[in-house]
Amino acid sequence: MAHVKEFSVEEKLTSLLSLQKIESKLDEIKILKGEISMEVADLEDEITGLHSRQTRIEEEINGVNEFIEQGKNAIKEAESLVKKYEKQSNNVKNNREFEAINKEIEMQQLEVKLAEKHIKDATDEIAEKAVILEKAKKNIAAKEGLLLTKKGELEKIIAANEKEEKHFIKLAGEAKEQVDARLLASYDKIRRSYRNGLAVVPVERDACGGCFNAIPPQKQSEIRQHKKIMICENCGRILVDEELNSRVEVK
Ligand SMILES: [Zn+2]
Repeated sequence: MAHVKEFSVEEKLTSLLSLQKIESKLDEIKILKGEISMEVADLEDEITGLHSRQTRIEEEINGVNEFIEQGKNAIKEAESLVKKYEKQSNNVKNNREFEAINKEIEMQQLEVKLAEKHIKDATDEIAEKAVILEKAKKNIAAKEGLLLTKKGELEKIIAANEKEEKHFIKLAGEAKEQVDARLLASYDKIRRSYRNGLAVVPVERDACGGCFNAIPPQKQSEIRQHKKIMICENCGRILVDEELNSRVEVK
């Protein structure tokens, strides 16, 4: 602090108002950033969900294919048992033994029929699932395309937002140099105490633009004179007149 410039009240108010407007822009950017990143996360979740749906259907088809393989093996086993029993039936010693072997053969033949029936049903099931899978794949591809487009758009907004943010951060730094330290400290304190981050507000329709408390005409004319810094009695925010408010623009 080698050189301290004396600012007039009007200069102080102008600098402070401009700082407020810059920081309000930064607040807006921050909110938008949060909303966009949430939207991107939702899109990513949706895409993941679509993929796992496809995987689920494919796994179901694999399961049915395995079941068919098991059925085919069961048929082979039963058929080889039938052959074995038929050989044995040539060497039977009595009628009872012959009956018993015949019963075994019948049972194995029944096994074969049952397995064939299961395989037929499972093959029908796979055909149905294949249709479902094809439909799902088409849906997923279409929806994924839409989501990726949307994500790309959001990424563009994020990039533009970041550029804007950098610009306003630079402006805020410059504006702070134009405000004296004590005033800046009380501005920061008021700003921190309100969720909307407003420390400097215009008088609008005869009321404080921050808390909407009525401002008497006498006080309004003092605010317009820019002779001292005026505070809202109700909320403690720094008040400026509408004319000054419309004059200070940030871009
Ligand atoms: Zn107020």
